[in-house]
Amino acid sequence: MCGIVGISNCADVSFSLYYALYALQHRGQESAGIATFNGSGLCKFKGNGLVSEVFSEATLSSLSGSVGIGHVRYPTTGENRPENIQPFLFSFRGHVIAIAHNGNLVNYRDLRTKFEDKGQIFWSTSDTEIISKIITEEIRKGGTIEDAVRKCMECLKGSYSVVMMYDGDLYAFRDPHGIRPLCFGKAGDSYIICSESVAIDALAGTLERDVYPGEMIHINQDGVRSKQIAEARHRGHCVFEYIYFARADSRLDGSLVYDVRRKIGAQISDDEPVKADVVCPVPDSGTAYAVGFSEQSGIPFKECLIKNRYMGRTFIMPTQKKREQAVRIKLNPIPDHLNNRSVVLVDDSIVRGTTSRRIIETMRDAGAQEIHMRIGSPIIKAPCYLGVDMPTRTELIGSDKDVEEVRKSITATSLHYLSVSALVEAIGIPQEDLCLGCLTGCYPVEITNEVCDNRCITIVDRDFQTNLFHH
Ligand code: AMP
Repeated sequence: MCGIVGISNCADVSFSLYYALYALQHRGQESAGIATFNGSGLCKFKGNGLVSEVFSEATLSSLSGSVGIGHVRYPTTGENRPENIQPFLFSFRGHVIAIAHNGNLVNYRDLRTKFEDKGQIFWSTSDTEIISKIITEEIRKGGTIEDAVRKCMECLKGSYSVVMMYDGDLYAFRDPHGIRPLCFGKAGDSYIICSESVAIDALAGTLERDVYPGEMIHINQDGVRSKQIAEARHRGHCVFEYIYFARADSRLDGSLVYDVRRKIGAQISDDEPVKADVVCPVPDSGTAYAVGFSEQSGIPFKECLIKNRYMGRTFIMPTQKKREQAVRIKLNPIPDHLNNRSVVLVDDSIVRGTTSRRIIETMRDAGAQEIHMRIGSPIIKAPCYLGVDMPTRTELIGSDKDVEEVRKSITATSLHYLSVSALVEAIGIPQEDLCLGCLTGCYPVEITNEVCDNRCITIVDRDFQTNLFHH
């Protein structure tokens, strides 16, 4: 997963990009980068680490211009190497181009081989570089950026939300299934296109709407234009964005994520009523779910685990051993809230099972008598190939175990997961317009050796008549 942002028509754009990336930090913590256009060329600064670690006031001041893009990276394709840090910058036939991508291209290897067979060289191991190759090839053939985006939508398979600068023009496009989020808004006279609406909030702006799946937006001094380039028979919005990835205060494709999670919490309380003294979230991912559970069941909400707020997300750690150590530092129990109590413990999901097992162990050590685990998602059974680091089936605890086996493995007193239909209802988007790949093993795009529900894409090339921004 990654976070992307593009801002146009903004004095000192690098500072605004910095704040926007700060708001998107949860989408990727490995590296961060900003590129701006200063009127004649590109300025860039990129590095490993958190946004606050990578940039200083001095580096931001050196990134001049009124248009720019930014990226926070969480690796899915390509190792942690300096050359994989985005935005990617390149020049072609007198034009400078910068590109930032959130998503994962499943046919990256095939496309790369095709380009290599034509003599093209690659300087990174990131799938994003393929997008730059398609763009330069279309320009070489005399095409426009719009032609290049059309070509991308014809041949890329997978998820891609992209922001791009072509000289001083800002472009954005989203794959025809709309798998990863992308939205746009306005702050003063500036235009912002970003992964989640919290980045627009950070700049005191107003969310206009989501970028439609298959839409391309183009912003320059003449204004904002938009075109529907391609359409899929069905969309494929990622449910894991609602379950875990997106911030609770973001609005995704029309819904406030916090509300979706709260509704789910109420639902799991109705599904499997339980007698307990307190409802406790696994902070922070379980909080909104636990609020909903507590409101619905009448069992008091009580924080029994306190999160060390200086820790990153544990699954970012590269090895299982490091992840296990990290869980211990990350959450500390409050024995006074747990001693001799029966607790409903609420979290968003169980992936490998490490977190839940450790937490339950720690809570028992702190005196909890019963621990009833309630999960805000259905069982995660299959890997994600579309941008979430959801491991192989062997690592996924739910891939070959039923609920009772998972319960035993994590040593909970009882365990209940949300059903797929209840998840769909809480999100409020029809099931055929969601990607449920990690829950059902059926994906919206063709993936080798996996089942696909064949949502074919057609090129439509439709201009939007309406002005995108109302003044
Ligand atoms: P675990 O079951 O130990 O893999 O940890 C699962 C917890 O980590 C969940 O409750 C989530 O809060 C969080 N998480 C979310 N996405 C992922 C992911 N892709 N890989 C691992 N953990 C994740």
